[in-house]
Amino acid sequence: MAEVVLAGVGKVYPDGTRAVGDLNLNIADGEFLVLVGPSGCGKTTALRMVAGLEEISEGRVSVGGRVVNRVPARDRDVAMVFQSYALYPHLSVRQNIGFGLTLRKMKKDVIRKRVDAAAKTLGLEDHLERRPRNLSGGQRQRVAMGRAIVREPQAFLMDEPLSNLDAKLRVQMRAEIARIQRDLGVTTIYVTHDQTEAMTLGDRVAVMKKGELQQVAAPQELYDRPANLFVAGFIGSPAMNLLKGDLSGTEGDMRLSIGGQELRVGAGVLERRPALRDYIGRSVVVGIRPEDMEDARLSPGGEGTRLTSTAELVEAMGSDVLVHFGMEAATVVTEDTKELARDAGTDVLGTLETPHTTVVARFSPRTEVQVGDSIDVHVDTARLHFFDLDTSKSIW
Ligand code: ATP
Repeated sequence: MAEVVLAGVGKVYPDGTRAVGDLNLNIADGEFLVLVGPSGCGKTTALRMVAGLEEISEGRVSVGGRVVNRVPARDRDVAMVFQSYALYPHLSVRQNIGFGLTLRKMKKDVIRKRVDAAAKTLGLEDHLERRPRNLSGGQRQRVAMGRAIVREPQAFLMDEPLSNLDAKLRVQMRAEIARIQRDLGVTTIYVTHDQTEAMTLGDRVAVMKKGELQQVAAPQELYDRPANLFVAGFIGSPAMNLLKGDLSGTEGDMRLSIGGQELRVGAGVLERRPALRDYIGRSVVVGIRPEDMEDARLSPGGEGTRLTSTAELVEAMGSDVLVHFGMEAATVVTEDTKELARDAGTDVLGTLETPHTTVVARFSPRTEVQVGDSIDVHVDTARLHFFDLDTSKSIW
């Protein structure tokens, strides 16, 4: 079984920088786990510790049941695919793919067989005699993958392998990587800062911030039940709208006031979030995903499901229309919006009492909203998210 386990793993660089702290992850045999987070959150460092390219300061890493802390990289039986591909320009595709095996002094016919099989999997059969400079970006990326595949390792470790490709090719290669990993069934840890890549590739996704794991869950679970404001804001595009609101009313008829406008908290919310009861009479952070809003003319809804505002910006995307509108509510400052907060003169996470927040809604393309129009926005109030104002944690 090629399970990869990180138990209490930490990294402190010689200059005292703590890049990773107390990281606990169990990656099952054959699982595709994506490590995602903003730049500098420590995901590359975590991956390099598994690969053996970085010393492990604390905790234990094991691969296939064997603790590898003191095992040199080449003996860990894992294969790394780098962002830069690291191909040898003077070698052919065949030689590049087989390079690691040649170094290991494997028999020529075994190498040939493995390279041929990998080339077939990757659709590189016709390019085996070419040099890397005569390949497209996507083909070079495949060669880098081929080099990992022929080693038949216990795990693949991939560090942003698609970031040098243009947008269209990235989508294509993303599907390729998913297919290859499924076909080969090799345990994979994949690092990216791109949440779309993480959501589409991962069996599970581990979200990191400042060296610490925030949540690890299946993509849909992360989207539906983000553990805290950071995950809520990071997963989903456009990002979840986060506003300050006040809860009032009773358990049977809970009301939410946002910037002087009132919504009725949808049926079922309390069942999913029983702890919300304790917040009646208090302020909370409300999360509304853009896709949980619609032009009220297209989706009328009942009493307490509407916000009224003016369209400030309308972006037609073809498949849908992003409508930005203002709310007289306090802005919630998260890690992502900290820059804005700093400009406005505060440096803390929390709420910023400048009473204007721009909310983004994803309307159906049938909408006919123009900038400056007064609009009624229907909110799917059964899908509202709630977070504690002080702890930033989801209220469940
Ligand atoms: P990116 O996506 O930008 O590569 P990352 O999430 O992969 O970011 P790491 O490269 O793991 O993050 O870096 C985590 C932290 O450790 C950062 O603050 C970085 O500046 C720091 N760091 C990385 N390498 C070293 C080093 N050799 N010495 C000191 N600090 C380092």
